[in-house]
Amino acid sequence: MNFKSIISFIFLFLAVNELAFSQKQTKPKNVILMIGDGMGLAQICAGMVYRQGDLNLARFKKIGFIKTYSSDNYVTDSAAGATAFSIGKKTYNGAVGLDSLKHAQETLIEIAENNKKSTGIVVTCTVTHATPASFIAHVENRNHYFDIASYYPNSGVDVVIGGGMAYFNKRKDKKNLIDTLLKSGYDVFDSTNDINTINSTKFYKFTNNYHLPKMSEGRGNYSEIASLKAIETLNKNKNGFFLMIEGSQIDWGSHDTSLSYTVNEMLDFDNTIGRVLDWAVKDGNTLVIVTADHETGGLTLVDGSLKDKKLTGKFSTTEHTGIMVPVFAFGPGSDEFSGIYENTAIFHKIINLTGYKCFK
Ligand code: MG
Ligand code: ZN
Repeated sequence: MNFKSIISFIFLFLAVNELAFSQKQTKPKNVILMIGDGMGLAQICAGMVYRQGDLNLARFKKIGFIKTYSSDNYVTDSAAGATAFSIGKKTYNGAVGLDSLKHAQETLIEIAENNKKSTGIVVTCTVTHATPASFIAHVENRNHYFDIASYYPNSGVDVVIGGGMAYFNKRKDKKNLIDTLLKSGYDVFDSTNDINTINSTKFYKFTNNYHLPKMSEGRGNYSEIASLKAIETLNKNKNGFFLMIEGSQIDWGSHDTSLSYTVNEMLDFDNTIGRVLDWAVKDGNTLVIVTADHETGGLTLVDGSLKDKKLTGKFSTTEHTGIMVPVFAFGPGSDEFSGIYENTAIFHKIINLTGYKCFK
């Protein structure tokens, strides 16, 4: 080898290496989408005051903002907000997995399943509530919980952890969807089973007949444990996974215009974010996206003290607001999430980065 060919060999080597590196950097094997329902900037700042320091959210370097309006309203509800993420289209308030013309569209969970990924849902409300429902069901009205539950057994979702067992086995139509799940090869656990003892690759874990308790009512570190159990289970699929985790009750705290309820739920969600991020840092192939469907309460922090952990918060409404909400991203492809864009772009960015094929 002469000098010239050695030099060109080195350049070729560097180029190939860089290509491999950049591919590794931009194509995530796994995607974890974390939705803080009602988590606007004020909810996050309030959490920082009570944590008396940075939240785990401050560990993210790639940050953007999304515009949350729905197809029929400047102020979105959680169904249209989650459906924007799950199908990539703006829809009307109340719609679950349907576009604005009420046509069913493939959701991220269905698309991931069709691409041989494992999929999961972890929430701190019923699994039939608007946010998780929008990844599973296709119904015209978010309040049709029994209809929403009936979409679960055929959705292909592998791991489901949350409340709402009654919508599966105490139904008006007398169908027992728990039996359907068992016949379809799922293991189903209720509140009597310790989540840590579950050793199954396809399971439902119902913590409650209806919603889960608030943090102040003793929910403990359920969200952290459930999220890690879901990750550990889904990660057994060598093709990768898609997981949606919701901090469901930040929204309810702000609807109640209760700063303490809001902050307790915010801090719980942030603790879960910390555990997920720790896992993703070690894994290296996982894109973690944390965002919100909308802000709730029009919360303003008008006075406070970091030193004394004191805060005066004022809510301007008991409903949602139309202000932009932040997006935090970590891992391969996270660069794509900087900037200001539509909530529907979350879906398209995930599809483009993962290369999931859409068959419908
Ligand atoms: Mg929700
Ligand atoms: Zn709400």
